[in-house]
Amino acid sequence: MSQKWVIPTHSVRVSKRARRVTIKVSAYTGLEVVIPIGFKKSKIPEILRSKEDWIEKSLSRIQPEDELTRPDSVQFDLLSEFWRVEYAGSTGDKAKLVEQDPNVLLITGSVDDPVKIAAVLNQWLQKRAKAMLVPWLGRLSEELSLPFNRVSVRRQLTKWGSCSGEKSISLNRNLLFVQPHLARYVLVHELCHCLRLDHSNRFWNILEKYEPKARQTAVIMRDGVDWVPRWAQV
Ligand SMILES: [Zn+2]
Repeated sequence: MSQKWVIPTHSVRVSKRARRVTIKVSAYTGLEVVIPIGFKKSKIPEILRSKEDWIEKSLSRIQPEDELTRPDSVQFDLLSEFWRVEYAGSTGDKAKLVEQDPNVLLITGSVDDPVKIAAVLNQWLQKRAKAMLVPWLGRLSEELSLPFNRVSVRRQLTKWGSCSGEKSISLNRNLLFVQPHLARYVLVHELCHCLRLDHSNRFWNILEKYEPKARQTAVIMRDGVDWVPRWAQV
């Protein structure tokens, strides 16, 4: 531990479920400190300093491979789809994407710019996610008799889904990268929030009637950001 170490940029998340302080480093959230309710934030620098070596090592491990590059393929675990990505041309100030048979994505235009490629892939991801998740939530809602009012599909960086007091559910478009049984859990979790908005024991008991392994699945989903490719994290 060196005195002069400059603490890297980090975010602090207060978690109702956390019993102790945990430090996470991921491509998705960067350096994140999760603290239990009531924990004094002024103690965080000291804790980070005590983990200097681990933090530096973890950050250096994610950075090189984390640079935005052109993907060679796209895999949607939720849909059991695998797309090979092909690039053609190098002109224009935009990239264009066309779905080609069989399972080939053709990107044309400014194909040397990873930022523009990410933009066009994300537009496509958003469209595909909406087409899949909105009707699926509707079907689950009917099947389980758990009504909701509205649904939107969005890019969300730290949450898989959310539900408001108006029973308006928001789903993360990146659920397309998640295995079906895990994605289903997220949808049912949000539908159960239409009955109860908190994360009390009563909420978990309701949810477990529909998803018996809810508590274990919630833990798995916390690391789910690792399944999201770099281009979908922008
Ligand atoms: Zn919840």
